[in-house]
Amino acid sequence: VIIGMKVVLASNNMGKVEEFRQILAPLNITLLTLKELGVEVDIVEDGSTFEENALIKAKTIFEITKLPTISDDSGLCVLSLNEAPGIYSARYNGLNTALERNQYLLHQLKGVVDRRAYFKCAIVFYTGDEIYHTFTGMVWGNIIDQMKGENGFGYDVLFTPVGYNETFAELNSSIKNTISHRAVALAKFKEFLENDFSI
Ligand code: IMP
Repeated sequence: VIIGMKVVLASNNMGKVEEFRQILAPLNITLLTLKELGVEVDIVEDGSTFEENALIKAKTIFEITKLPTISDDSGLCVLSLNEAPGIYSARYNGLNTALERNQYLLHQLKGVVDRRAYFKCAIVFYTGDEIYHTFTGMVWGNIIDQMKGENGFGYDVLFTPVGYNETFAELNSSIKNTISHRAVALAKFKEFLENDFSI
């Protein structure tokens, strides 16, 4: 790995930024946020998959900063809802707050027996000239019937990963950061940086 390599993280979600920092901490790369760089841009995520949207974000930020850029696109897919909210997780049903989105999800699943769901994350590392690498991760679990826990963000309060009775919002962040969709994708990215990447 290139010691001290500067990499831009194309996200304004502080929950995610914190997770990236924790997981990539051993790597000795300097992770710059859009906020730190003073980059303000409204990116139209009009892809039809997590992978496409992550690429749109990474490429846009690379064009502005000219620095290697990591982006992620992620969301929750509920099997009995035809994989909704999926790529629309951040704006499920046009709702603005996580609380409203969680309430809406509970409403959609009222009386539904099959509560299986997964979080998916696609990370794109874009280094310029259409060169990029994509890393994906998933974590399976179930949507419970009431919100629980204070940690994390988004749908964490409703999601119990397979093998645990607690939601992501109840589990210690170090556990979430070991098993989450983002952790799995990031582990692949980290391995790539350590073993295969050179400028
Ligand atoms: P993005 O910022 O476009 O990737 O939107 C991702 C959305 O999916 C977030 O706003 C959350 O609603 C949801 N999401 C993604 N990852 C997680 C997670 O780890 N926990 C809870 N919600 C998540």
